Amino acid sequence: MPLDPSGVTASHDSPATPVPQPPARSQEHTSLAESQVEKLFAELLAKVREARPREDLSPLEKAYRFASDHHKLQLRDSGEPYMVHPLMVSHFLADMRMDLVSMETGLLHDVVEDTSVTIEDVRKNFGEEVARCVDGVTKLSKLDFFEAEERQAESFRKMLLAMVNDIRVIIVKLADRLHNMRTLEFVEEPDRRERIARETVEIYAPIAHRLGMGKIRGELEDLAFRHIDPPAWEEISRIIESGRQENEQFLERIRHLIEAEVRREGIHARVETRLKRAYSVYQKMKRQKITIEQVYDLMAIRIVTDSVKNCYAALGVIHNEWRPVPGRIKDFIAIPRPNLYQSLHTSVVGPEGRHFEVQIRTEEMHRIAEEGIAAHWKYKEGKKGPAADDQRIAWLRHLVEWQREMPDPGEFMSTLKVDLYPEEVYAFTPRGKVIVLPRNATPIDFAFAIHSDVGNTCVGAKVNGRIVPLRYTLRNGDIVEILTQPGHEPSKDWLAVVKTSRARNKIKHVINTNERAKAIEIGQKYLEKEARRLGVQLSKIPHEDLESAASSYGLAKLEDLYAALGYGKFSARQLLQKIAPQQFKDGAAEPGRTPAPEAPPAGAPTGPQDRDGEAIIKVKGVDDLLVYRAKCCNPIRGEVIVGYVTRGKGIAVHSKMCPNVQNLMYDVERKIDVEWARNTTDSFPVKIVVHTDDRPGLLAQITSVLSADNTNIRSLEARTEVTASDGALIEMTLDIRDKKQLERLVGTMRRISGIRDVERLLN
Ligand code: MN
Repeated sequence: MPLDPSGVTASHDSPATPVPQPPARSQEHTSLAESQVEKLFAELLAKVREARPREDLSPLEKAYRFASDHHKLQLRDSGEPYMVHPLMVSHFLADMRMDLVSMETGLLHDVVEDTSVTIEDVRKNFGEEVARCVDGVTKLSKLDFFEAEERQAESFRKMLLAMVNDIRVIIVKLADRLHNMRTLEFVEEPDRRERIARETVEIYAPIAHRLGMGKIRGELEDLAFRHIDPPAWEEISRIIESGRQENEQFLERIRHLIEAEVRREGIHARVETRLKRAYSVYQKMKRQKITIEQVYDLMAIRIVTDSVKNCYAALGVIHNEWRPVPGRIKDFIAIPRPNLYQSLHTSVVGPEGRHFEVQIRTEEMHRIAEEGIAAHWKYKEGKKGPAADDQRIAWLRHLVEWQREMPDPGEFMSTLKVDLYPEEVYAFTPRGKVIVLPRNATPIDFAFAIHSDVGNTCVGAKVNGRIVPLRYTLRNGDIVEILTQPGHEPSKDWLAVVKTSRARNKIKHVINTNERAKAIEIGQKYLEKEARRLGVQLSKIPHEDLESAASSYGLAKLEDLYAALGYGKFSARQLLQKIAPQQFKDGAAEPGRTPAPEAPPAGAPTGPQDRDGEAIIKVKGVDDLLVYRAKCCNPIRGEVIVGYVTRGKGIAVHSKMCPNVQNLMYDVERKIDVEWARNTTDSFPVKIVVHTDDRPGLLAQITSVLSADNTNIRSLEARTEVTASDGALIEMTLDIRDKKQLERLVGTMRRISGIRDVERLLN
């Protein structure tokens, strides 16, 4: 059974461990609990009736009776009756104005997981649609997103499929997660709390974001934050709280001013004020490497008006009153975000030089920004769910298609990550069509976004009328013209610069096809050459023998065998020994003692060896291949590593996190499993850079941390930074045994006051 983030015994994700309670509890307590549950349901019913006055609500009543019968005597970790949870989930769904099927699913979502009820029972009682949704939610609850990559990818695939089948499944799941997050403090084990919280910000909040559900996303992130990084949460909340009263008074003043001004202009609008969410402040601090004191705009104003025209008019009013901060005006009305979010954004310098942010939108835009895809179920006669061509669903469909094309789980996960956390840039074709791309996208991404033929034959690009290099970083509003040349093919170097999974996949496809053709040719020639050298007559070997040799390597076709030889996955000699042992003349042949396919060039790295000559890194299942740590990322023990078969130089071992891995692994066939050998005590030189305040004594504090840990310093250089305000930089090379040691040291250093950041330099 997969270890679930929140279920101790059962593999479900609610932080409640439903425990059947013996009926020994006091009568009084039981009836109190029962009346609490009944009251919650009555409120739910009233809420739904108000929104859907003409609808028959008896299915909801039936679902409630059914679920509460089966959850009877179960308790949540909070000590409340279990039934409070499904009821709260349905309340959230009712607040989002979801349909009856969703709310029935909300009430029933845990019965299959936590009671003796089967999905068949649900189908018999509530019909196919509800059963399918309950089944979907039950399956999502069983997924584990923090497992080995392969199983994690599998979990994502299942989740995507469930979502494509019926988007209501994920909406119910998000509501479920929201209530679980609101009651997370009742979960006793800190590890489990952190795991649930991390899953929330890494998986569920980004999905809510992609579906445009801004409100639930924001709440999920804020609820999770305190469990993910408690000290940071405490500090940020404290500072927000300490300034709250003053900031709120300031915002009130601004609100009155704006209300008066828009009224004078004849604009219908309501003005809302808010302080920024703790989590978004945290993200900003991390992104910009600044302290909370440097986050100047903690305050925000929202103007909700009645028409697009009045949005622009209101923007005019704001800019007339206060000076806008350059570069912060964004028009998401003309160009909606891919999740269909629309708004005008600006930041202004207000009274007393205090900055605040302003969002301006219509009521309809506001609803879509808050509820996203869920807005489609809002009760309207004859309207049922989002249209098939909704961009937010189209995104899901693309992902499902891509996962089919991507056999490598690592690659699938990285694609998913790119797609889950988009920060967009908006560029235009010369004819004015908008192309939305992730931040830092290049003209190559742009070319592939237009059409794969345009991408494949792309030779250059003009941005705003000027020729730019293909690695140019596109900016908002750029007009991009792609220059093509028929017959031209993508270059491998492009993989290092593209930012979209679409471009990456297309480029890899072309390169793979070409490389494979080359490898087959090389492999075939290499086999013939080795055969001649060793006196094996290849022509006498029956075709079937070669084919069965291929299958003994787990390869489907003879072509694959040649390709594997060509890539250097094993030697021709090894193969010949296998297919023609009797003709094999070389007496020195020993299994496992095969030379690398091509002699390594002089001076090639010979693999990391410790003092006893034992290898530090092992290739799974093979002993004597040349292995070396890649210079681009210098992996250290404890890091997840991957091997990549290079031609003639042996196996390069990269850290899994190395950006080059993504680019190298265009060819899955050249990936090879490697692991750290046990029982060696070697250390690795690791470069780190410490950003500090420029004050005396800090260096001594740092070195004392290192000596307390018995860490050897190979080199150290400190200098004052010219640009940043009075900062200093200390660059050091340390002898590090493993990842744990490095993390411990970095953690300790970060806690020294005056240290702003500690970074590992990769080379
Ligand atoms: Mn639940």
